[in-house]
Amino acid sequence: MRKDNFMAAKIRVTVWNEFRHEKKNAKVIAHYPNGMHAVIAAHLNQQEGIVAKTATLDEPEHGLTDEVLAATDVLTWWGHLAHHEVSDKTVDKVQARVLEGMGLIVLHSGHHSKIFRRMMGTSCNLRWREADERELIWFVNPGHPILQGVQSPIILPKTEMYGEMFDIPQPNELLTISTYPGGEVFRSGCSFTRGAGKIFYFSPGHETYPIYHDPNIQRIIANAVRWAMPTGSMKLECPMSPTGWFEKK
Ligand code: ZN
Repeated sequence: MRKDNFMAAKIRVTVWNEFRHEKKNAKVIAHYPNGMHAVIAAHLNQQEGIVAKTATLDEPEHGLTDEVLAATDVLTWWGHLAHHEVSDKTVDKVQARVLEGMGLIVLHSGHHSKIFRRMMGTSCNLRWREADERELIWFVNPGHPILQGVQSPIILPKTEMYGEMFDIPQPNELLTISTYPGGEVFRSGCSFTRGAGKIFYFSPGHETYPIYHDPNIQRIIANAVRWAMPTGSMKLECPMSPTGWFEKK
């Protein structure tokens, strides 16, 4: 949120995508000829009060220059094949922006991204299986702003199974639990705070299925953008009060 015009300003979103599957896998290209980021950003740009741009791995500085990050209120992240190609310098900068208050929405296989692991401090490993299975996304926090306007359960006819144990710290808020025909369960919607920043992890979004075209999934991502927008800011500093809170004169 721009500080100069707080009420009128739009939430500035940068939709980041690795954008590799969409260049080589016909199944993925069929759903996302211009990349998943294009579909996610197009939907966000239809929302009142949101303006979304995109950035991808192969752009200079992965499209995340200082200028772009400074002008981003909420960053969404999709990666899978090339987490290791994201430079540590970029991860450092994104982490600093989140701690200052930038929102971060991590999608699907972004669970293994450098930035999500950095923010969580754990392996973020999980169980998975690609078998065209149905996923039911059950709401366990129905009053949460991220889930408004959507009915539980969301039904995805074909998905990739993500199952527990998902090696994350205990979330601040658990929003959804997914179930699968194999009996697995998964904490598919989790929120965290780090510094002044809000983080939302949302697992649906395997690249070979048209999940980011699903209106329910689109609605949740747009709700998450609004939820994650900066509502304060914290400059990174380490104040020292050698004489105690009430300083001696
Ligand atoms: Zn996947």
